[in-house]
Amino acid sequence: MKGFRQARWEEPLIYEVSPDTKEGTLIDYEEFEDYAKRLLLKLPDNVRRRSLDIPSLSEVEVVRHYTKLSQMSYGVDLGPVPLGSCTMKYNPKICEELASDRRIAEAHPYLDEDDVQGLLEIIYTLQKWLSEIVGMDACSIQTPAGAAGEFAGALMIKKFHADSGEGYRDEMIIPDSAHGSNPASAAMAGFKVVKVPADPRGNTDLEALRAALGRRTAGIMLTNPNTLGLFEEQILDIAKEVRGVGGLLYYDGANLNGIIGYVRPGDMGFDVAHLNLHKTFTAPHGGGGPGAGAICAKGALVDYMPIPIVDYDGRKYYLKYDVPKSIGRISWFYGNVVPAVKSFLYIAALGSSIKEVAEVAVLNTNYVLKKVSPLPGVDLVYGHGRWRKHEFVVSFEKLYKETGIGAEDVAKALLDRGIHAPTILFPLIVPEAHMVEVTETESKENLDRLVDAYREIVNLAYANPEEVKKSPRNTSVGRLDTVYGNLPKNVAPAYRFLKEKRTGA
Ligand SMILES: *Cc1c(COP(=O)(O)O)cnc(C)c1O
Repeated sequence: MKGFRQARWEEPLIYEVSPDTKEGTLIDYEEFEDYAKRLLLKLPDNVRRRSLDIPSLSEVEVVRHYTKLSQMSYGVDLGPVPLGSCTMKYNPKICEELASDRRIAEAHPYLDEDDVQGLLEIIYTLQKWLSEIVGMDACSIQTPAGAAGEFAGALMIKKFHADSGEGYRDEMIIPDSAHGSNPASAAMAGFKVVKVPADPRGNTDLEALRAALGRRTAGIMLTNPNTLGLFEEQILDIAKEVRGVGGLLYYDGANLNGIIGYVRPGDMGFDVAHLNLHKTFTAPHGGGGPGAGAICAKGALVDYMPIPIVDYDGRKYYLKYDVPKSIGRISWFYGNVVPAVKSFLYIAALGSSIKEVAEVAVLNTNYVLKKVSPLPGVDLVYGHGRWRKHEFVVSFEKLYKETGIGAEDVAKALLDRGIHAPTILFPLIVPEAHMVEVTETESKENLDRLVDAYREIVNLAYANPEEVKKSPRNTSVGRLDTVYGNLPKNVAPAYRFLKEKRTGA
C-alpha cells in the first residue's frame, strides 16, 4: 500500500507503563471506604482484600496504552486479510451493534427459559436457516468452533456404529490436503486415520479411496470445495463408494463460502457437517473472536447430536436435553450465543441473496489467481486450468530455487505493503505454498493492490533478493526468529519437517 507504515510502538505491559507513585483514579477514598463498608458489611474479614495491585495510571495514559496496542495490530478493519481457509471477511458493524444489546450480550446462561424466549427464538430460527443452507435435518450451535464440530461429528459417527453393532469400524478416511484439525479430531475420538492423496486435477484420488475403503471404515471427513479451492468433481461417486462399505460422510464446512446458496452438503450425500459461523457467517475470529460453530446432521444421525438443542413445543422455546442417544455436551450451556446472533443477523440481512456471497467470492478468487499465477517463479501444483471456488493455492518453489526467496519471505514482504500475509506452507502437499482467500468483501482496487504487491515482490526477488529478505520493515515488529534454528529433538517436529522439506535434507 502506498505510504503504508504501521505505528512503530514497542508498547510495554501496562504494569511497566505505570510508575507506582501515581494514582489515576478520582475516587475520594474516605467516602469510598464508607460506601464500601456499608456494602461489604456482611463479608467476613478473611475474604476481604486489603490491597489491589492494579496499575495506577491516569485516564489519558490508559487510553494511549490501548490505542498504541491497537496500532501494533492488523485486522480486517485495517486492510485485506487474504488468509486462505479462514474466510476473513468483513464483519458488518450493524451485526456487532445489534448483538451487543445488553439483553443478548449480558444474558446469563442460568436465566430461566421463560426470561430468554426471544434469544431462544433467535437460536431456534438460526438452527432452521442453517439446516436449510446445508440441506440437513437439524443444526445445533452447541459447538464453539469448527474443530469442536469435527470432534462432535466423529463421536456421533462412532456412537452410531457402536449402536448398530459395528463398533469394530475404527478407521476414518481423510485426504492428505485436509486441515490439520480433521485428523486431530478423528484421532481424539479414537479413530485410526487413513490418508488418501489428491489426483493431479486436485480431486480426491478415487482409486486410492477405493483401496482405502473396507469393513473397518467408519467414514470419511471431507471439505468441499477442498483446501486447494477446488470442487470435488466426483463427490457423488465418493459418497456412493463410502456408503457402499457402510461408512458415513462428514462435511467440513469451513469452505462453504465458495458454494453457499448453490450446492448443499446434504444433497452431496453428507450425513454430518460443521459450519464455522466465524468464517462464512461473519462472526469475527482471530483476535476479534470468540467464534462459534454449528453442528448439523441428517437422518439417523440427528439422534446423536450434542445437547442441549433449542426446540419449540408450539407454545414456548426450550432447551431440549432429553435425547437418549446424544453424545452429550460438547461445551457449557448452549454454545457461544453472541457470535451466533451475529450470524443470524447476517443471514437475515442477506436472505436469498446470500448466494451472491459465493458468486463474488469465486469471481474475486479467480480474478486474483489469473493475475498472480503467470508471475515469474509462481506455479500451480494441482488443478491446472480449473476454476477455483473460494480460494487458490500457488507454489513459490520455483522462486525459492531461482532466487532463494521462499513463501515465507514473500509473505513478510506483503506485510510491508499493507497486506496481511495469506496462509503459508499449507496445505502440506504444495511446496512453498501460499493459500489465498480474498473473500467477497474486497473491492477490485484492493484485489489489484494485492496483485501489484505480489508482482513487485517477485520482480524484486529476481532483481535484488537481499532487499526482499529485509522485510518486514514497516511493521512495529521486524523479522522475528522463525524457530527454524536449533530445536531440541521432539520439541517441534512440525517445524523440523518443514525445514527438512524445504532444504531437501
Ligand atoms: C478453520 C478450519 C477448520 C477449523 O475450524 P475452527 O473454527 O478454527 O476450529 C477446519 N477445517 C478447515 C478447512 C478450516 O479452514
